[in-house]
Amino acid sequence: MIDKCGRKIDYLRISVTDRCNFRCVYCMPEQGVPPIAHTQIISFEEILRICRVMAGLGIRKLKVTGGEPLVRRGVCDFIRAAKELPGIEQVTLTTNGALLPQYLPELIASRIDGVNISLDTLDPDTYRRITRRGCLADVLAAINAAWEAGIPRLKINSVLLSSINDQEAVSLAALARDRDINVRFIELMPIGLGQNFKPIPGAEILAQLTAAYGEPQPFCGRIGNGPAAYYSFPGLKGKIGFIDAISHRFCSECNRVRLTAEGHLKLCLHYDHGLDLLPLLRAGCDDEQLQHSIVAAIEAKPLSHSFGRPEASHTDKHTMNSIGG
Ligand code: SAM
Ligand code: SF4
Repeated sequence: MIDKCGRKIDYLRISVTDRCNFRCVYCMPEQGVPPIAHTQIISFEEILRICRVMAGLGIRKLKVTGGEPLVRRGVCDFIRAAKELPGIEQVTLTTNGALLPQYLPELIASRIDGVNISLDTLDPDTYRRITRRGCLADVLAAINAAWEAGIPRLKINSVLLSSINDQEAVSLAALARDRDINVRFIELMPIGLGQNFKPIPGAEILAQLTAAYGEPQPFCGRIGNGPAAYYSFPGLKGKIGFIDAISHRFCSECNRVRLTAEGHLKLCLHYDHGLDLLPLLRAGCDDEQLQHSIVAAIEAKPLSHSFGRPEASHTDKHTMNSIGG
């Protein structure tokens, strides 16, 4: 699928639930989110139908995210079924790791193509402070278990927040020292509760890592599905990635759209533009009508986000736990 800006759209991120077992301070309110009526949650069968139709339009890669995807019952069966869809080349998962060990056998059996684990700090108290529910030892054990189980393409995602964990880039990057695990620093975006915190620009983190590990080599090969810029550092086996959505806008290369747990096809992180697929599906539309509507929606994908521009405050009702990152 090519949008009106000539961008090839081949990647769908699916938020299978907006619920989570954590309450990260920049993502979810302490009291959680109001429950979506059960009938308004898109079923796995409905998601699979959308994926099948979108595979026919050129979607090749799927990311299963949330909220916390592993809190939704049946997610591993969904991953297995998604892997079997004609045209789908890659299915990966993003998780906070807390429930990961118990699902590793099923994920391996599903032939999952990769897992990203979110980890913002190596200090147990700061971990508790950021996640409000999580236990650092559990997620470290999950990373080890995933590595031992042979999960392919294991990545760590870290978001650094000013005055909270901004001194941790060097220790987090050390997770890539002995194992081929890529560590990626994601710039905090001013979405929902993210607006309450100050991000650390990727360039600042790169400077800290250069001081600690030595001069990096830009890595030109392809890793992952997205806009991360990767570097190799002396002494680190894994690569270090930077996703600088704010300081290095990469909208001109954007290859993705998102599906929320309510069946909203979201075209850009910043804007609410999109298509509500649930009413269409439940009104009995056929695959051709569905395809038609999706193509028309994607053609209207915004040119770029406007985060950081004073004239364009963020008005989208979706918060990060429902968008899926
Ligand atoms: N619960 C899973 C997890 O934490 O990995 C998947 C969903 S979570 C929304 C996906 C990613 O989005 C996490 O790595 C999280 O740190 C990141 N994230 C959440 N809010 C963000 C924000 N405002 N800016 C940048 N990244 C954010
Ligand atoms: Fe949950 Fe992930 Fe959001 Fe943290 S970042 S509250 S783990 S959805």
